Amino acid sequence: MSQTLENLLREDRTFPPPASFAATANARPGIHEEAASGYLAFWRENALSRITWFKEPTEVLDDSNAPFFKWFADGELNLSYNCLDRHLAEHGDQVAYHWVGEPGDKRTLTYAEVAKEVNRLANGLRSLGLVKGDRVALYMGMIPELPIAMLACARLGLVHSAVFGGFSSEALSSRIIDASARVVITQDGAWRGGNVVPLKANTDRALEGTPTISHAIVVKRTGHDVDMVEGRDIWWSDLVEGQSEECDPVPLGAEDPLYILYTSGTTGKPKGIVHTQGGYLAGVTTTHSYVFDVKPDTDVYWCAADIGWVTGHSYIVYGPLANRTTGVIYEGAPNYPDFDRLWSIVAEYGVTIFYTAPTAIRSFMKWGDQYPAKHDLSSLRLLGTVGEPINPEAWVWYHLNIGGERCPVVDTWWQTETGCIMITPLPGVTATKPGSATFPFPGFFADVVDDAGNSVPLGGGGYLVITRPWPAMARTIYADDQRFQETYWSRFPGRYFPGDGCKRDEDGYFWLLGRVDDIMLVAGHNISTTEVESALVSHPAVAEAAVVGRRDEITGQAIAAFVTLKASVTGDDELLSTLREHVADTLGPIAKPRSIVFTADLPKTRSGKIMRRLLKDISENRQLGDVTTLANADIVSEIAEMATQSTED
Ligand code: ATP
Ligand code: MG
Repeated sequence: MSQTLENLLREDRTFPPPASFAATANARPGIHEEAASGYLAFWRENALSRITWFKEPTEVLDDSNAPFFKWFADGELNLSYNCLDRHLAEHGDQVAYHWVGEPGDKRTLTYAEVAKEVNRLANGLRSLGLVKGDRVALYMGMIPELPIAMLACARLGLVHSAVFGGFSSEALSSRIIDASARVVITQDGAWRGGNVVPLKANTDRALEGTPTISHAIVVKRTGHDVDMVEGRDIWWSDLVEGQSEECDPVPLGAEDPLYILYTSGTTGKPKGIVHTQGGYLAGVTTTHSYVFDVKPDTDVYWCAADIGWVTGHSYIVYGPLANRTTGVIYEGAPNYPDFDRLWSIVAEYGVTIFYTAPTAIRSFMKWGDQYPAKHDLSSLRLLGTVGEPINPEAWVWYHLNIGGERCPVVDTWWQTETGCIMITPLPGVTATKPGSATFPFPGFFADVVDDAGNSVPLGGGGYLVITRPWPAMARTIYADDQRFQETYWSRFPGRYFPGDGCKRDEDGYFWLLGRVDDIMLVAGHNISTTEVESALVSHPAVAEAAVVGRRDEITGQAIAAFVTLKASVTGDDELLSTLREHVADTLGPIAKPRSIVFTADLPKTRSGKIMRRLLKDISENRQLGDVTTLANADIVSEIAEMATQSTED
């Protein structure tokens, strides 16, 4: 960015916290100020009160080797103990997970049942010769065995590396090689939209080039035939057969690694992010309790992300279980067997807290209001979103159609690297504005800076930076300290640079504007793709939009838009010019798209994020970049064809 970001979007709708919610909220007014006045004391107090330590830490932050920070370094603990054992005496019969399987299967697991399964598997893993520090790859779908496997690893100090079950064998293979994993845990197959995803067959292909793997453990889920390689492959059920239901949790250092997790790959080659034990647990338990306002005795909490992403690690497994939450895990697709699948689950289980992604919300909008309207959603009391900037129109739709206008909406900004939520409203405390993630969570410190690293005054935009270390921060990129330092700590020395653009309004609210790489420079103005997309989505005909800056001799970059319409609308030339005018009216003539292409779908990562860099490649007639993390590769060539016919000024 050669100058700060233009401030184009005007959003003046404000939603104060409902009084009834505020009355019983976990978060209290003044908590931001408290944490700011004693930030290390704030984190120390949360780490001591929320975690059961085998040996309490006396140190809080060790910053002697920045950016390789340590937190609570002399403490000892075990995360599986914190997630399970300590709840058992009084709450062993409490449901940990209601699991909803795709072809109509259901399972309910109590904390005591999960603990037994974890111990049996941990004993089984030990019988294979695995020892503390060994890496275990998990290539699974959304079944209870996935959190069980994560916790069994955590019990022994094995480092898990989950690879999203929607990834190909190549993606699995490269991640196994990068982490030199010794064992992989997978399934015969996973259900998805009525079909079987052949996880074991993919694993077999991946293992052709991975010399470090000694064993593949296979969960029988679909029951279809798979090849089992003698001496290498073991059924999960055989491994745990006859294993004791007791297994002592290994005391681990707070800075021992807990897991490796690869980022979504939206911007290029995925990075193997390393998280450790103590600081991570302090971060996820504290944020989970305040951001989701969880009441362990009464709430039914559903984070509808995939466990294979960081959202699932932090807010389906570690945060919720350590906080003794009753959760829902859903195996299948949101539109199978019909578009109301999620809402029927909310009604059936009386879900009170629901957390999903903007991409899902835009799909719900596209499918139509009639689907949520068919179900009783009155049990819901809080809604959340994560993953991308949420278009204000999608926020409002969610608030009205899912939240019945009574539920606070928490738009949570964070990353694989941050480990836990970082910028978010506190429900019951923060007045929200649709499209703004509002303020840094207590104990987090962020700023918006210009090219030179100077703070941009309120009302302006620039680069988001995090100005102080935090407990759940990534410790490094696996086996690549240098890349860690270069990627996050070199752009603005002494500060963490997440790679996202951001503006603040006059009230100090943070508005995340997508990746810095996506920001356009049009006729000397820095314009965020997010704002132009939100303007397009605010038109009633539009379901989803992606915008990129394409090279242009006169203006530097020209705005190229790709638009998906609502189910009932067809795109024609008239709508095209209406939409261009609509953007000009909303944001000003400078933001008017030069071209608009109507498309049935947009290229997305497997976590559902729009991949703008591919659209940019298309717009500039370039060879397409890395598409291995793409979910819907076909659409790219389709769009490429249509882009050549798009309208120009
Ligand atoms: P890669 O780093 O490999 O390109 P990725 O950044 O998509 O992939 P994640 O760690 O899953 O991988 O995503 C974090 C990013 O998602 C953030 O940096 C930000 O760009 C975006 N994001 C997440 N939540 C929000 C939010 N509430 N508002 C705006 N953007 C968000
Ligand atoms: Mg990223």
